[in-house]
Amino acid sequence: MSLALTLTLAAGCGTPPPPGGHRRSPSPAQSNDDWAIIQQKLIAQGQALLAGDEAGWMAPVDPGNAALVEHYRNLFRILRALQVTRWDPEFTMSIPPILAHGQAPNVHIDMWYCFANATCPAPTKETRYLHGPTPRFRMVVDFGLRVSSGGYLITAVKQPKGDHHAGRPLPWESADLTVATGDRVIVAAAPGQQERLPVAVAAAERAAAATDRYSTLLGAPRPPRYIVYLAGDREWRTWNGGSPGANYAGYAYSASSHQYEVVVRTSARNDLTALLRHEFGHVVTSHGTTRAGAEIYDVNQWLTEGIAEYIEAGGRPATAGPTIAAARQYLRASPRMRTLGLEPLPRNATATQVAAFYGISHLAVDCMARRFGERNLFAFFATVVRESQGPFPASERAYGQDWEDVQRACITDIYRAVGL
Ligand SMILES: [Zn+2]
Repeated sequence: MSLALTLTLAAGCGTPPPPGGHRRSPSPAQSNDDWAIIQQKLIAQGQALLAGDEAGWMAPVDPGNAALVEHYRNLFRILRALQVTRWDPEFTMSIPPILAHGQAPNVHIDMWYCFANATCPAPTKETRYLHGPTPRFRMVVDFGLRVSSGGYLITAVKQPKGDHHAGRPLPWESADLTVATGDRVIVAAAPGQQERLPVAVAAAERAAAATDRYSTLLGAPRPPRYIVYLAGDREWRTWNGGSPGANYAGYAYSASSHQYEVVVRTSARNDLTALLRHEFGHVVTSHGTTRAGAEIYDVNQWLTEGIAEYIEAGGRPATAGPTIAAARQYLRASPRMRTLGLEPLPRNATATQVAAFYGISHLAVDCMARRFGERNLFAFFATVVRESQGPFPASERAYGQDWEDVQRACITDIYRAVGL
């Protein structure tokens, strides 16, 4: 499964009205000073996080709020374990919040962040409203004035209604993850999944060793590390808004063009290494590309799933795989295929539809690999998916053949492969 869950919503964020009750008009000058102090506290908090300074990270948090203190302590532990390399707040309010004694104004922030990426770039004007290389998420922080501590402190933190992501919470926003690290992977387990961590790290390392080489084949940058979240059934239904539903065992999602992360549902499949080869196949072939819009209607889904199945199979043909029976059944019951590019799966696709789609897509990719070689197959993939050009120019360039001829030959091969 491949879901690019990030939407580019250029939603402006106005200043919210202050809560009801008594209002005092703050002195504008003082308000601006206070606003500058609040911004500086959040910037310093991020710098403390990157420096591993927990006391500095906790400094702006209201110590009288035990739940909030625990939330921030957990977040510090998880973000450090995920090897956070950027945590920069951008203040999205066009005018400063109203600051008055006795009130806790909402401060709206876009937080730019990176995990395990030493070269994570600072956001630029060009990438700000596009699906750029630096991930971000939106948060709302309340700052209340605490006279005892002599200044403004964080008194609440909330998820906003609108966000760049299709669904929240993001997996790492869960307060109770347990994180383990390998050479090429970071694996974070939801509660109840911790005992799987040693096996999962070993499986992820094996999968990474198998998938890393495709970066070279694509001429693409290698993902710095593969990041995996182990979800129980409860987290599967909530993380990233509950995508992609009950008929899937895992998915790769895009936090940015340079940070694809993987979620697996541990109850769905036993062969974790194979499942991770498939999802890492999505990560390695997508890393460094913008696939914005693909979550709405991915015209290349047959190719992205076919290539992920091909990578998962690691040289074994689709005819030896578990989806072949569903593919055969579908082909026998449907009008003859006219193009290799199947219609993208509907959101409510049944398990049988999904299996048939994966099986036929895998057969199509196998055909191209057999006829033109693996190197040319990946050149074709790079042109279609990474460069967003259609299969017609890609086929001319990578295979030296007209796409219509390639499709005709591969459709014949597919029917023959399933004995029809
Ligand atoms: Zn997939």
